[in-house]
Amino acid sequence: MKRVLKRSFLILFFTILFIGGAAFFCVELVLNADDWANQPYNAHISGNGGLEQAGAIYDRNGAALAKTNGSERTYHENYSVRTGLLHTVGDNSLNISTAVQSKYRSQLTGYSLIWGLNMPQSLRASHDLTMTVDSSACGDTYDALSANGSSGACVVYNYKTGEVLCSVSTKSYDPQDPPEINEDNESEYEGVYLDHVLSSSYTPGSIFKLVTAAAAIEYIPDIFERSWYCGGHEDIGGNDVSCVDGEAHGYLDFQGALTQSCNIVFAELAVEIGAERMTATANKMGINMSFEVDDVETAKGNYDVSKASTNELAWSGVGQYINKTNPMQMAIICGAIANGGNSTTPTYIKNGTEDLLKMIGVNSKKSQELVNPQTAATLASIMPEYSFGSLNVRAKTGTAEVGEDKRPNAWMVGFSTDADAPLAFACVVENAGFGNRYARPVAEIAMQKCAQALRGG
Ligand SMILES: [Zn+2]
Repeated sequence: MKRVLKRSFLILFFTILFIGGAAFFCVELVLNADDWANQPYNAHISGNGGLEQAGAIYDRNGAALAKTNGSERTYHENYSVRTGLLHTVGDNSLNISTAVQSKYRSQLTGYSLIWGLNMPQSLRASHDLTMTVDSSACGDTYDALSANGSSGACVVYNYKTGEVLCSVSTKSYDPQDPPEINEDNESEYEGVYLDHVLSSSYTPGSIFKLVTAAAAIEYIPDIFERSWYCGGHEDIGGNDVSCVDGEAHGYLDFQGALTQSCNIVFAELAVEIGAERMTATANKMGINMSFEVDDVETAKGNYDVSKASTNELAWSGVGQYINKTNPMQMAIICGAIANGGNSTTPTYIKNGTEDLLKMIGVNSKKSQELVNPQTAATLASIMPEYSFGSLNVRAKTGTAEVGEDKRPNAWMVGFSTDADAPLAFACVVENAGFGNRYARPVAEIAMQKCAQALRGG
C-alpha cells in the first residue's frame, strides 16, 4: 500500500511537472514565437533574412526602397540611394537593429501565431509600408557625406509634422551586394551596423554654444548690453582657454560672440552661469536624455560637470570637456528652437495599413518644451544666418577637438526659417576638420534637396 502511494505521488509529481512545462512553453510560444521564427539563424528563412514574404517599403514619393520579387528581396535601383538608406531601411542580414526591416520584420512578413510564416497569401493583409524619407535627397546626401571616406551622419526633418525626409549614416555598404565582414576587413567596416543618426553620440564642439547661449539668455538679464574682449587666449581657472588657432576676435557683443564662435566668451559665460544652471538648461533641452523616435530610443548625449574644475566648466560651455551630443537629438533641439521652444517628435513612418501602424505605434507622438518660448525666439533671432540656395537658414557650425592625433569632428546644425520648408537638420562628419568646410556642404545638399521635396520642385 505504502509503495503504491509513493508511486502515485511520483506520477502526480511528474504530471504536474509536465503540465507546468507545457504551459510554460505555450506562454513562451505566444510571447516569443515571432522573434524565434524571424531570427536570422533560423535556417528555414535565412536566405533572405525571412524577408521573402515581407511587404514592400516605399519612400514618400512611392519609389520602392525594398521589395520582394519572387523569392528575392531587392533594394532601390540606384546605388547611392540604397546604400544611403541602408541604416533606415535595413538589409537581409537584419544586423541593423534599428532599421525598419529589422524592427518591424514580423509585421512586414505578416507573421501570425497560427500560421507561423506560412500564412496563405489569400489570408494576408497588405503589409507594405510608406516611409517619410525622400530617396533622392538621401542618395545625394550619401554621396556628399561619404566623399571623404569618414564616418558620419546627416538628418533633416520637418519640425512642424515630424516627418524625417533625409537620414543617412556612414560608413555604409550596398544592401544589394553586402560585403563579407571577417577578421581581416572588420576595421574597414567598424560601426557599419550602427545608425549614427539614432545610435551614436559625438563631441559637439561649438554647436553646444546654442545650449550655453540659451542659459545665458535665461540667467544673465543684461546679456545684450555686455561686451567682451578676446585676445585669442585667456586664463580661466588656472588653465588656458583658447579660440581656434589662437585667433583673437577683439571686441564682441553677445551676438557677435555667437557669430564668430568665440570660445573665450562662451567659456566665461559657462563659469558665470555656474554648473548647476548650465546643467539645468542642458537637461531641459534634452542633452542627457533619449528621445523616442518611432520605437527607437536615441543615444543620449552627455553634459556632466558635477566633477568639473573651473577650467573644465569653462570648456564645457564651448562643447568640449566630456560633452557629447547625438545627431537626431541636435536636430530635435534645433527644431524646437525654430518651433517656439516645443519639440516635434520625428517619425520615419508615413503610411501603412491601419493594423500595421497600430502595431508599430507611430501615433503615440509626444511633444515637449525643450526651450522656454521667449528664449527660443531670442536664440533663433541671433543664430548665424546662411543661404542654402533659396533657403534661409539659421545654423551653428562646430569643430570639435577629439584628441591629439585625430582630426576634429565637423558639425553643422540648424533650421530653415522658410514657412514652406520648415526643416531642421544636424550633420556630423567624424575626424574631418572644420565644420564650415566639411559639414556645411553636406548640410546644404541635404537641406536643399529636402526643401525641393516639400516644395514639389
Ligand atoms: Zn575669441
